[in-house]
Amino acid sequence: MSEPLKDTVTVVGAGLVGSLLSLYLARRGHTVELLERRADMRRETVDAGRSINLAISTRGLHALRQLGLEDEALKHAIPMRGRMIHPPQGALVYQPYGKDDSQHINSLSRAWLNAFLMTAAEATGKVNIRFKQRVTQLDLGPGALTVHDDATGQVRQETGRVVFGTDGSASAVRQALEKLPGYTGTQEQLGHGYKELTIPPGPGGTFQMEKHALHIWPRGTYMLIALPNEDGSFTCTLFLPWQGPVSFASLDTPERLSAFFDAQFPDAKALIPDLMEAFFSRPTGSMVTVKGAPWRAGGLTLLLGDAAHAIVPFFGQGMNCGFEDCVVLDTLLERGGSWENVFTEFERLRKTNADAIADMAVENFVEMRDSTGDPRFQLRKAVEKV
Ligand code: FAD
Repeated sequence: MSEPLKDTVTVVGAGLVGSLLSLYLARRGHTVELLERRADMRRETVDAGRSINLAISTRGLHALRQLGLEDEALKHAIPMRGRMIHPPQGALVYQPYGKDDSQHINSLSRAWLNAFLMTAAEATGKVNIRFKQRVTQLDLGPGALTVHDDATGQVRQETGRVVFGTDGSASAVRQALEKLPGYTGTQEQLGHGYKELTIPPGPGGTFQMEKHALHIWPRGTYMLIALPNEDGSFTCTLFLPWQGPVSFASLDTPERLSAFFDAQFPDAKALIPDLMEAFFSRPTGSMVTVKGAPWRAGGLTLLLGDAAHAIVPFFGQGMNCGFEDCVVLDTLLERGGSWENVFTEFERLRKTNADAIADMAVENFVEMRDSTGDPRFQLRKAVEKV
C-alpha cells in the first residue's frame, strides 16, 4: 500500500455531505479548511436547508457507523416502518416497508444532524469550519479559489490546495468544471414545487397520527407527505405543480386553499392550525436533477453530494447517496495513490449509480403520488407480503 496523502485540503460547503466528508478526511490525517457561506446554525438562527427533516436509510447509517456516530444519530431518529396512506375518503391503509419491523427508514432532523456532524468534525481538532465564507469561483488554471468573507466584506484568493466541492445543487465549484472543454451535463427543474407545513404535537407532546409511519396523501398529479419529529410534531410537505388547474399558481387565495384542503386533505387540514399563514408566508421550494461529467479536474478538485448529483427527493436518497460518496472515497484513499487516480476511480465507480438513482427518484414520484393510492397497487403489496 502506498503512503496516504496528508495534505491540508479545502472543503467548500459545510452541509450534510461536506461535514461528513471532513470527518472522513480528518480521520485519514488531513487538516481540513471547511468553508461555509451561511452563519453557524448552532449559534444563530439560519435556514438549515431544504427540508426540516429527512429520511436516513441503511446507506446513510452505514456511513455514520464507520465513524462511530450511528448510535447517537439513532437516538434522535424515529423509525418509520411503513407508509400510511390517507385516501380522500375512507379508512387509512398501512403498507409495511418490509416483512418485519426491523426493515425501516428513519426520520431525523436535518438541522440536528448537520450541527451534530459539524461539532464532531471540530472535535477531531483537524477541521476548521469558517462561516460566512462564500466561494464564488474556482479558477482551475492556477487552482485559485475566490472567497468572499461576508463577515468582513473582504475578498481573497486561496491557492495550493485540493478543493472538494460539497456546495450543493447550485455548486460554485461545479461551475469551474462546466467551463472545461468536453463537459456535458443537464439540469432539469421538476415541474412541481414544494411547501412545508407543520402538524404540531398533541397534548403532552403526543403524536396526532401514527408515529412510526411515513404518511402519504396520494392524489394523482400532486401529493402531501408527513414525517414525524422528535417533539411529537410532523413536518408535512405539499408537492404541487407550479402551473395548471391545481397548482401553486391556482391556489392563490385563502378561500381556494381552504376549499382545496377540505376536498383533498380534510384530516390533515384539521391538524394544521396555521395552514393559511404557513402556506402563504413560507417559501416554495424547487427541485432539480443535476447530471454532468466530469466531477473532477486532475488531482485538483472533486465534487461530491448534490454538487455532483442532485436528485429529486422522492426516494429519500439524496443525502444517503452523498454519505455513500464519502464511504467510497475513503475506501479509495485507503488503497492509496495520487489524488488524480483516486478522483478518476471515484467518478468511475459513482457516476453510473448516481445517474440510476436520479432516474429512480423521478419514477418513485409517480409511484408515491399515484400508485400508492391505487387499490390494485395495495392488493399487489398485500400479495407480496404473504
Ligand atoms: P446541501 O445540503 O445543499 O449543502 C450544501 C452546503 O454548501 C450548504 O451548507 C450551503 O450553505 C453551502 N454552500 C452552497 N454554496 C456555497 C458557496 N458558494 N460557498 C460556500 N458554501 C456554500 N435526502 C435523503 O437522503 N433523504 C430524504 O428524506 C431527503 N428529503 C429531502 C426533502 C426535500 C424537500 C429536499 C429538497 C431534499 C431532500 N433530500 C433527502 C435530499 C438532501 O436534502 C440532499 O441530497 C442533501 O442535502 C445534500 O447534501 P449536500 O451537503 O451535498 O448539499
